[in-house]
Amino acid sequence: MSIQNNLRSIQATLPENVTLVAVSKTKPVSDLMEAYKAGQRIFGENKIQEMSEKWEVMPKDIQWHMIGHVQTNKVKYMAPFVSLIHGVDSLKLAQEINKQAQKNNRIIDCLLQVYIAEEESKFGLDERELNEILKQVQNDKENYNNIRIVGLMGMATFTNNQNQIKKEFSRLKTIFDTIAIHNSQFTILSMGMSGDYALAIECGSTMVRIGSSIFGNRN
Ligand SMILES: *Cc1c(COP(=O)(O)O)cnc(C)c1O
Repeated sequence: MSIQNNLRSIQATLPENVTLVAVSKTKPVSDLMEAYKAGQRIFGENKIQEMSEKWEVMPKDIQWHMIGHVQTNKVKYMAPFVSLIHGVDSLKLAQEINKQAQKNNRIIDCLLQVYIAEEESKFGLDERELNEILKQVQNDKENYNNIRIVGLMGMATFTNNQNQIKKEFSRLKTIFDTIAIHNSQFTILSMGMSGDYALAIECGSTMVRIGSSIFGNRN
């Protein structure tokens, strides 16, 4: 299967309200260009340097999403162009994004990453930390003019147990809905990867991040 065929068959299964982020980390620009030629305009990367290098050489109508863990001292390199940062997991990081967005005269959209898996290794906030950050940003609006928190991101446990994955995604959806009721900026629920995106959509995902099913396995 070619990248273009993979993309088309995935797109065909996605409901209209679900956005596809093509996760292109580790893949060469030529692979991304194949996806671009098939109409894909949103790409996800997990390393700032790699994303910047691709941004420099690729068409400028692409939206670049940072899906990886972000180190505060590297925010400045993507602030001029990044369109959505999925993995915001501290107030310190939100402050730095706001600062760098301001320097670039931009408003940068962000998702807060929530910890829903049972594994130890996944980054993210628990519900208390999540609400704390939202409260801080809302109560201190003039200091967060250049950042917009537009939703949540989460990763389920890497397991074959569909019930467990479903339970984790459903929990994130409930947290999302609880916030969205009184926050009109909350529109994006980023959950679902190659192995579990169908289930994520069933549970209410509005944005899926798919890599290997489009571009093939990574080394
Ligand atoms: C790599 C990655 C993906 C895509 O994973 P696939 O299994 O290749 O679809 C999605 N989300 C995040 C945060 C990732 O790091």
